[in-house]
Amino acid sequence: MSETVDPVELSNRIIDTGNPEPPHNRVLDELVEVEDEVAVVESFSHCWAVKTQEGLVCVDASGAGSGENVVEALRGWSKDPINSLVYTHGHLDHVGGSGAFIEDAEARSEKKPVVIAHEAVLDRFDRYRLTSDWNTFINKRQFGGITPRAEVGTTRIGIGGFGSTFLPDSVADPEITYRDSYLLEVGGKSFELNHGRGETDDHTWVWDEENKTVFAGDFVIWTFPNAGNPQKVQRYALEWAQALRDMLDRGAEKVYPAHGLPIVGRKRVETVLGDMAEALEYLTDSTLELMNAGARLDEIIHEVFVPDHLSEKPWLAPLYDEPEFVVRNIYRLYGGWWDGDPSRLKPAPDSLLAKEMVSLLGSVEVLVDRADELAEKGELRLACHLVEMAVQSEPSHEGAQRARARIYWQRRSAERSLMSKGIFAAAARESEATYGERTPRMKMREAVRKSMQ
Ligand SMILES: [Zn+2]
Repeated sequence: MSETVDPVELSNRIIDTGNPEPPHNRVLDELVEVEDEVAVVESFSHCWAVKTQEGLVCVDASGAGSGENVVEALRGWSKDPINSLVYTHGHLDHVGGSGAFIEDAEARSEKKPVVIAHEAVLDRFDRYRLTSDWNTFINKRQFGGITPRAEVGTTRIGIGGFGSTFLPDSVADPEITYRDSYLLEVGGKSFELNHGRGETDDHTWVWDEENKTVFAGDFVIWTFPNAGNPQKVQRYALEWAQALRDMLDRGAEKVYPAHGLPIVGRKRVETVLGDMAEALEYLTDSTLELMNAGARLDEIIHEVFVPDHLSEKPWLAPLYDEPEFVVRNIYRLYGGWWDGDPSRLKPAPDSLLAKEMVSLLGSVEVLVDRADELAEKGELRLACHLVEMAVQSEPSHEGAQRARARIYWQRRSAERSLMSKGIFAAAARESEATYGERTPRMKMREAVRKSMQ
């Protein structure tokens, strides 16, 4: 048995002191019984299991890479059949492991678990088939820029399957779907499935009235809410906050999330869910206020920030997504894709604009030198614009590509969120590929360390 700190103990300490003790999202693939008849396998994502007289009810199947480990961990706790498997939503780290659940039933000659989810999970699966290569590509970029161990533990966190398609064939379609709510009654226990939009449009949170327990899926993730993701479809900040308020109004005393730590005790639940809701409501209100005043997106993203009293909370750390991206998604939700700059309504190709600037400046080197200067001063947003323009005007210019790789590595190490790190690392790698070099991981780590000093 490992010497892993009990998740409830760890969570209580973090919430009670307000001091982070990372990693909060642990990928251990070990089962912990957090209370009588309720267990969690902390993985990517977690699987929650409840014992009933008619077998186990499981919430989420974890990912394709971890499903087998999760089932094995469950089997170390209970040999009962898995009666039902609820998907909190259709992201692959929650459904990817379902194949292992089905295989387990087959191997034991038992009835397969009944898979239950919100009806929009099926639409999501259709979308994944339509955009399979796109999804494989963006997830590689999203998760490629950071050492997984940094935040999420030790297991590899490939989101997709290992086959040729993003959605593995082994993923089970839900057999029962619902629209607003669904009452699941199994072996003397009742679970109310509630739909809410937040990180996704197909989200379910499960309510156990008798035990005042919420199985929250990704409504609670122990990092800043993933309502902004730059590479993904629309997210719903205000409805996310509403779902959290609903959980509080129902009287939740325990919240069991799909990532991060269990939250046990009414006061702690109020603190964490209240903070999350407040942050999302604040970003929404501030963005809408500026939109209603006629502001452009440019002005909004540089003016709206999470208030200090919330931004340093361990459960709101921008380590995965970040508030700036959430603001963009709020703008997109209520305002569409145009940012308000008329020149960008029907823009010239970026390369033409870049060539025009270079001809005005006299040479690409002027741009590159200035980009380096700005980077040195830590003005990375500006530096990136200039160096991007340099390679846009002359993609075969090795000096420009080298500067671009350098500046994006520096930018990557200055960022905290996995999403920014991933995109900036991908940009650096893209430039490196043009001159056939690749910064090795160690050297990269050195550069990251230096930039932190
Ligand atoms: Zn997730």
